[in-house]
Amino acid sequence: MSDTIERVKSLIRDIPDFPQPGIVFKDITPLLADEDAFSSVIDLIVVHYGRGNIDKVVGIEARGFILASPVAYHFGAGFVPVRKAGKLPWKTEREEYALEYGTAVLEVHTDAIRPGERVLIVDDVLATGGTAAATARLVERLGGKVTGISCLVELEFLKGRVNLAGYDFFSLISY
Ligand code: AMP
Repeated sequence: MSDTIERVKSLIRDIPDFPQPGIVFKDITPLLADEDAFSSVIDLIVVHYGRGNIDKVVGIEARGFILASPVAYHFGAGFVPVRKAGKLPWKTEREEYALEYGTAVLEVHTDAIRPGERVLIVDDVLATGGTAAATARLVERLGGKVTGISCLVELEFLKGRVNLAGYDFFSLISY
């Protein structure tokens, strides 16, 4: 593991039993607060996909917004928020997906992505992959092409990648 990745990993904090018993929450706030580590993770995502290859960067509410915005800036791309149901003010496309218990809904503005645009999806943590897969379906419903899906952290033992077969998935840190 490179020194940079090792340092980034040391700045991700495990919070047992948050937000509910049995979940180990990966708290990235110490990483975000570190000026070197924050800029390094953004640079690594940008380098992986390459400048000139992305038209829109989609951030998934809420921690995905924090990472997707600087990535979009570096690409000279637009930023698009994908949000939980009822948060976006204008016309939306919606996608319902299964959680361990029950379902969740994600939404995007119908005019956020134009047909044919190359889209990178960014979030903080890939767990089961349900959130990222639902976001990819939303992008495709608007006619966008999912060029990649990137997460800072991948919880490998949950095998979320299986839900993202066929996409260029890139994570910086695995557990
Ligand atoms: P999933 O749809 O199961 O891949 O869950 C991914 C979404 O839930 C992401 O938006 C994450 O921010 C959040 N998430 C899931 N598990 C964790 C975890 N252990 N720590 C932090 N965030 C998590």
